[in-house]
Amino acid sequence: MASLSLITPSPEIRDELHRRGGDTARRCFQCATCSAVCSLAPDDQPFPRRQMLMAQWGQIDRLAADPAVWLCHQCNDCTVRCPRNARPGDVLQAVRSMVIEGLAAPAWLGRLVGKARSTWPLLLGAPILFWVVLLGLTGHLAWPAHVTAFEQVVPHVLIYSVFLPVAAWVLAVVFIEGGRFWAFLGSSSPPRRGSFFGALLPVLGEIGTHRRFARCEAARPRRTGHFLLMWGFVGAAVTSGLLVVALYGFGMEMPLPLGHPFKILGNLSAIALVVGVVLLVVERWSQPRVSGATTAFDTFFLTVVFLVVATGVLSEVARLTLPGQVAGGVYVAHLSFVLTLFLSFPYSKFAHALYRTLAMTHERMTAAE
Ligand code: SF4
Ligand code: SF4
Repeated sequence: MASLSLITPSPEIRDELHRRGGDTARRCFQCATCSAVCSLAPDDQPFPRRQMLMAQWGQIDRLAADPAVWLCHQCNDCTVRCPRNARPGDVLQAVRSMVIEGLAAPAWLGRLVGKARSTWPLLLGAPILFWVVLLGLTGHLAWPAHVTAFEQVVPHVLIYSVFLPVAAWVLAVVFIEGGRFWAFLGSSSPPRRGSFFGALLPVLGEIGTHRRFARCEAARPRRTGHFLLMWGFVGAAVTSGLLVVALYGFGMEMPLPLGHPFKILGNLSAIALVVGVVLLVVERWSQPRVSGATTAFDTFFLTVVFLVVATGVLSEVARLTLPGQVAGGVYVAHLSFVLTLFLSFPYSKFAHALYRTLAMTHERMTAAE
């Protein structure tokens, strides 16, 4: 495991955890209330008391190989009940951010996104600059006074020639990081049994229904927001795939009419994303104790999702009601934020989708019969 071999138990690691919002770990006096109240922890492998001890000692390698770190859904039931306000939910979140950065490929991109607080302007600004330069170089910066289709702003061929290679690259990174994590998980657990895909399928069903999340009490509103956000992303991804097929496979005219099934799926996904983001942001503002500490790791991801959703909706409104230059600008901003979201996926909080899925699959494959 290339990157994490550099990380050894040390006061520096402990300090890094503190910097990421895990500073409350030092208050823990090992009473185990958290493990007792966590409804997601299995009886034979309770968490997060043990993980709090590892965090206090800065044992990031042991934490990185511990599936419990990802089986935690940060519902913060334990945080609310902890008599020392050691905030175990936040500590595990800080650990997750360190593991994501430690396993990142390439490592420098992991560091860039991991330090999001100081690199926000670059992460959000560079894709905007990229699109403006690309459109300028290809002669597509002179938009009509009234935009009837976004094809007039950025041709589809340009969009796909950017996003398809980016998607392929992200997929390759996901395989590398997932492989590293899988090897790490296997190094410290009982041997896995059965087939990977045989275990993965029920895990996907569990994730799709958020069955496990439903067992957490303190964060019920967050479950709904998370559920909508997840299915909004899935719907948006499926719609994008269908549009590629419709455009290049069947030569269909864009934009599609409002009543077209692809358009309906796209709009329903957009609604799910909007409602999901609003629920999560409102819950974060109104219940900070339950939502967890606000860190750059958290806010960067939520902010990018918010910007993607907001500019996506605004693009459609601006196309119908505002001058072409404004609509074009909003649309280019939207594409830029989507690019940031894509590129930062393996390094931001978004990557929990990969790591948690693998940890749940590993858990199923190592469960006692
Ligand atoms: S985190 Fe809190 S509840 Fe858990 S063992 Fe430490 S002091 Fe007890
Ligand atoms: S945040 Fe929730 S899931 Fe995570 S350890 Fe605490 S109680 Fe368990």
